[in-house]
Amino acid sequence: MIKVLKKFISSFIQNVFIAVMITIITVPVLVSLVTGTLDALIQYLSFNAPVWMVLLCTLISIIYAHFSRSKEPKFIEPEPERFLIEDSDFKWRVIDHKNGYSSVDQIPLCFVHESEYVLTPGNQYICRESIGSNCKAKIIEPSDLTFYWNMAKSKANSIINKYETKH
Ligand SMILES: [Zn+2]
Repeated sequence: MIKVLKKFISSFIQNVFIAVMITIITVPVLVSLVTGTLDALIQYLSFNAPVWMVLLCTLISIIYAHFSRSKEPKFIEPEPERFLIEDSDFKWRVIDHKNGYSSVDQIPLCFVHESEYVLTPGNQYICRESIGSNCKAKIIEPSDLTFYWNMAKSKANSIINKYETKH
């Protein structure tokens, strides 16, 4: 939102600046035309050539920058998408970063309850709902967690990059 506002303000200021510059250059010429003193103005300007040359160059470069920038395609960063995938009898939280990459939470969710696995004092990961109730979901040994996580990351990547086999 602030980015958009900043862009708007900077282009607004630039437009005002261009308008002022055009006025500075055209108004004396028009006034001279009306009052019939164009020759006098040209003489005056030729004495002050460096001044209006600088003004003209500035104006041209601003107009050029303005138009070359407006041709740039407006790039809006896509919002990352969050979803769950199923792998190895667990559910995994995936973030699709919309740039060909995904990330997967290292701790899975229970397949049945969709609640997070927790580490017990006995050093095993269990569904948090299995404390006090009965959950038949798999228990994870910490040494297996990385393997399951790698499997899930691989699956998430193949889901977000849906390449087709070329024959
Ligand atoms: Zn469970």
